[in-house]
Amino acid sequence: MGKLAVGVAVGVAVATCAVAGVVVGRRLRSRRKWRRVVGVLRELEESCETPVGRLKQVVDAMAVEMHAGLASEGGSKLKMLLTFVDRLPNGSEIGTYYALDLGGTNFRVLRVQLGGTRSSILSKDVKRQRIPQHLMTSTSEDLFDFITSKLKQFVEQEETVSEAAQSRTRELGFTFSFPVKQISIRSGFLIRWTKGFAIEDMIGCEIIERLQAALMKKGLDMCATVLVNDTVGILALGHYYDADTVAAVKIGTGTNACYMERADAIIKCQGLLTSSGAMVVNMEWGNFWSSHLPRTTYDIEMDMESPNPNDQGFEKMISGMYLGDIFRRVLLRMCEESDVFGPVSSKLLIPFVLEMPLMAAMHEDDTPDLKVVAAILREKLEIQDVPLKARRLVVKVCDVVTRRAARLAAAGIVGILKKIGRDGTGGITGSRSRSDAKMRRTVVAVEGSLYTSYMMFREYLHEALNEILGEDVAQHVVLRTTEDGSCVGAALLAALHSSSSSSSEGLHRRR
Ligand code: ADP
Ligand code: MG
Repeated sequence: MGKLAVGVAVGVAVATCAVAGVVVGRRLRSRRKWRRVVGVLRELEESCETPVGRLKQVVDAMAVEMHAGLASEGGSKLKMLLTFVDRLPNGSEIGTYYALDLGGTNFRVLRVQLGGTRSSILSKDVKRQRIPQHLMTSTSEDLFDFITSKLKQFVEQEETVSEAAQSRTRELGFTFSFPVKQISIRSGFLIRWTKGFAIEDMIGCEIIERLQAALMKKGLDMCATVLVNDTVGILALGHYYDADTVAAVKIGTGTNACYMERADAIIKCQGLLTSSGAMVVNMEWGNFWSSHLPRTTYDIEMDMESPNPNDQGFEKMISGMYLGDIFRRVLLRMCEESDVFGPVSSKLLIPFVLEMPLMAAMHEDDTPDLKVVAAILREKLEIQDVPLKARRLVVKVCDVVTRRAARLAAAGIVGILKKIGRDGTGGITGSRSRSDAKMRRTVVAVEGSLYTSYMMFREYLHEALNEILGEDVAQHVVLRTTEDGSCVGAALLAALHSSSSSSSEGLHRRR
């Protein structure tokens, strides 16, 4: 009996040890896996770091590149395109004007009725349409036929326009948000398509001529008086409301900026004479690049797999089209490193599967158990039953990617301010002149869903602006959101350059 009891006891002890061993082993393994995913996060955090010192280097690089882009054609990755917009609306514009806005997935037709005093827009009517996919790669004739047929429908449906307005040729601004080489405010040639458009016969063509021919074909008595880029429209609208507005930034699907520059600083265009001594410059800042930008292996891989490697480097770190894909790449790497998220979901292998609004929703999930994160992982990425602590990690990844984007956008904005001597340091040369002693109020008009609809992005951007500028200077810098600037601004510029306004003499490049 005694022997049996000992035997049983020993058996139980051995079994217990074995079970304990398995449990401990499992725990160790799971701890190791957890450490590996946390390692991926730490590595991401380190390579995305944007301490204020680094941001200031980006500010300087932006200002220097702006200078280089203005000095000579091809002098920088920043194109610094001339717009021939030498003055901006001030609120006294009057009458009914139209705009066509082509620049992405949506196309807009707009009519505004301007009151003529104190920046009053009496009425605004906008119609949005999606550009049918096939037209993006068809012929220019097909594209312009489509645009002008929508414009014709819009005009035919209007009832509220006064007889006086109807009796004269309707004037319109054309917002065409692709890289264009302009030779006057109403004339420009397409350099290349972006954003999925590829209409070969349009490249190198004069854009307003094409539009005007299509208007005539449709029997529309309309005249396109200005050709602008979306950021120029945003600047125009910003300035219409607030005369201290000096620059405009768009952070949406892509990103770009423009600002008012002294004509004599545009060295690549010698002898440029403008009525105001200044001109709006379209930076095409999405293409900015500097070795000071904090780049990760995810950025490098995304760039290499993109249709435009080595281009739009700044845009690929900042804008809505790309952030979701950086996130996807990080999550994929975490899944490959460990099974904390279960088996690797095939969804994670699909480029651009996670759109920006969903990433923003996960980042801003304020439910205590991160329900939104769980739902998006489950429904969009087919990753089931993710434990809470792993969901927290997902939020952290969103945070790192978005924070870097917002802080870099802030550095870009300060770069512009530095170039025009509004950053409180005396500008690019760093020599503090007497006029800088008193900082002038400086307004930057901002549009784009990342800034307007993504609170965390906006907060990080503001925080970085304060850090870079210091509070004393930052209190003089106002970021102001405008709405539909790309098209309303084009209509305002059409009003300003209207044939019926007194000062619409054509400013153009001296040949
Ligand atoms: P555009 O396409 O002309 O840039 P928007 O400024 O509206 O127009 O930007 C749309 C882009 O913004 C979308 O492609 C998406 O990436 C991003 N986006 C849309 N909604 C949100 C949101 N709620 N939070 C974060 N990003 C968003
Ligand atoms: Mg747009």
